[in-house]
Amino acid sequence: MEHLSRRTFLAHTIVVASAPLLPALEGASTKTRLILLGTGGGPRPRKARSASAQVIVTNNTAYVIDCGNGVARQLVFANVPLPIVRHIFLTHHHSDHNADYGNLIWLAWESGLSTRVDTWGPPPLDTMTKLFFEMNAYDIETRIKNEGRVPIGPLVHVHEKSESGSVMQDENVRVTATLVDHPPVFPAFAYRFDASDRSIVISGDTRPCENLVKLAQRADVLVHSAMYVPALDRLVARVPNARTLKASILAHQTSAEDAGRIAQAAAVKTLVLSHLVPADDPEVTDQMWIDLARRYFHGPIIVGRDLLEI
Ligand SMILES: [Zn+2]
Repeated sequence: MEHLSRRTFLAHTIVVASAPLLPALEGASTKTRLILLGTGGGPRPRKARSASAQVIVTNNTAYVIDCGNGVARQLVFANVPLPIVRHIFLTHHHSDHNADYGNLIWLAWESGLSTRVDTWGPPPLDTMTKLFFEMNAYDIETRIKNEGRVPIGPLVHVHEKSESGSVMQDENVRVTATLVDHPPVFPAFAYRFDASDRSIVISGDTRPCENLVKLAQRADVLVHSAMYVPALDRLVARVPNARTLKASILAHQTSAEDAGRIAQAAAVKTLVLSHLVPADDPEVTDQMWIDLARRYFHGPIIVGRDLLEI
């Protein structure tokens, strides 16, 4: 009994000691949460859906996957305190996935982040990070001097990745990446997160890809990018480069049917369609997305929407 009390006391002391650094997430728990922050594919800002981003939160620690435009604000809407961002993973360097990479770190720091952040992704992530801080040196130095903030540079540890394999592991998750097929962008990755209570795979952008089927084997949740091919003509009709844009989308993305095929081949429990292309066509309903994926996948299918927790 005495032993237990001492352990409880110690645990309590540790929590109190770390409290000033990391503000608690509302309803914080050890359950691993997945929140879709942005579910639209493509860089054009839209009312209907924000650009690609997800967050996994466990044990009051946030792991952000992709940083499309608006990711910091979407985290605020999701009630995830910016200072608990601990790891950032980029699937690839397309602007709908990385436009706010630097902004997320910078704005989190201005929101009180004062702890280490590790970032993971394809080259030239290191150069991009350095240049971002250089570009914003005036603001950063002013705030360090005038507001007494810790220097931001030393907090950020960049890890460039070019190959499939193990990424990192900590007390909450084990992260694995695989190369996916997203020409002409190379390398492009999918990430798998294995926590004690569930496994989550984020496909990034890819055309149908065998590596992804292997990575996602028996995962609890597969978040897969998806396009609704019959609506592509309406989408590209809005731009002058319609023909080349359509050919490009078809060549490097996965249809909703194929996302269903991949989910079935990987025997995942739940398929989430996200990075939707088109992202804001009112004629394409959730049921229409589901019907296409349902042709091949027999488990639960969720059509992603911003701020949905899964
Ligand atoms: Zn892409």
